[in-house]
Amino acid sequence: MKSSPVSTGDKLATIEEFIAGPGTYQWIDGYIRASILGVLQIDLAQRVISVRNFRSKPAYPKPGDNVLGVVDSLSDDVAFIDIFLVENRDVKSAKFTGVLHVSQVSDKYVKSLYEALGLGDIVRARVLSSRSPFQLTTKTNQYGVVMAFCNKCGSIMKRRDSETLLCTSCGSIEARKISLKYVVK
Ligand SMILES: [Zn+2]
Repeated sequence: MKSSPVSTGDKLATIEEFIAGPGTYQWIDGYIRASILGVLQIDLAQRVISVRNFRSKPAYPKPGDNVLGVVDSLSDDVAFIDIFLVENRDVKSAKFTGVLHVSQVSDKYVKSLYEALGLGDIVRARVLSSRSPFQLTTKTNQYGVVMAFCNKCGSIMKRRDSETLLCTSCGSIEARKISLKYVVK
């Protein structure tokens, strides 16, 4: 397999040499041409020529996607999350802004987001909307904080039970909405 970039209409090969695969078409002049902008792929064994889409767009979050982000700002009602990763995408994620409302944090009643999150915490969340800022939810035990830092000393905290974390450096105990995927058990 060889690959190189091509643009729409480019002559790729003759119809005597190759079979027109995905992303190509045969034209009346006897040439196979690119029907899309992308990367040329030549399969010499099968004698198939094709063009694969460029994956130049960042992984734009969609409803239902799972994302990881950092808690960037926090109030009683709303947290802003800097999304840095969209799970299960084979392209590099760009930065997006997510919004988590207090009513979407947990299946249980949460009065204030300060009971569930800390600034700088990393959260795993599910995307609810298709436009930025992306509405997020951390309901169900798969979602919530996956890594948290002690409010007193800044150390990474250890999971203590399903609702609290322990700082092994200073002994502080803090409440969070903790994901089952919390990294330090
Ligand atoms: Zn501490």
